[in-house]
Amino acid sequence: MSSRTLNLTETLVDYIHGHSLREPEVLRALREETAPLAMARMQVSPEQGQLMALLVKLLGARRTLEVGVFTGYSSLAVAAGLPDDGRIVACDVSEAWTTIARRSWERAGVARKIDLRLAPALRTLDALGRDGADGTFDFAFIDADKEGYEAYYERCLQLVRRGGLIVLDNMLKGGDVADPSVQTSSVEAIRALNDYLHTDDRIDLSLIPLADGLTLARKR
Ligand code: CA
Repeated sequence: MSSRTLNLTETLVDYIHGHSLREPEVLRALREETAPLAMARMQVSPEQGQLMALLVKLLGARRTLEVGVFTGYSSLAVAAGLPDDGRIVACDVSEAWTTIARRSWERAGVARKIDLRLAPALRTLDALGRDGADGTFDFAFIDADKEGYEAYYERCLQLVRRGGLIVLDNMLKGGDVADPSVQTSSVEAIRALNDYLHTDDRIDLSLIPLADGLTLARKR
């Protein structure tokens, strides 16, 4: 037994998938539709989608935010975890990717839960704040341009209620965060944000080594 996190072998990943993954057919179909796209690696992993659906249920979430929709896997997974009157305000700038997303939301019967805003996310988040929505969201998922993460995080921290949760994806950047020889702008941005969150006393914090690193930040 070890107190350290396991190094996951392919065999163990297969075991986890075979013994805990409950991926609905509509999500599996979306994953297969997205796989041939050049940017397919931007899609969250199925076990990550399942965790987020569980988290929104634990929170009893009704109002959620998503920054970075891509082809809609994470919003579809989260929408499935929301009650009938639950809503996601989903931010993205790509008409092409969100066309795929919208089709899968329709197929899954959750389209009415998702309010897609095709605009730079900061513009949408700032507009929500101006409209008096600060403190009214239960959950936010940030998975977009890494250079923008810190600004998205600050906005989401205003918009979620006390006890609400912000989830940030790709916080390990394929391990590059711990390799000082990698100095790309996206890795530097995530490194700086990890350092910032580490001492941010407005939140409770956990960086989960799931998929590419998932940070959970609970607003105090
Ligand atoms: Ca991602």
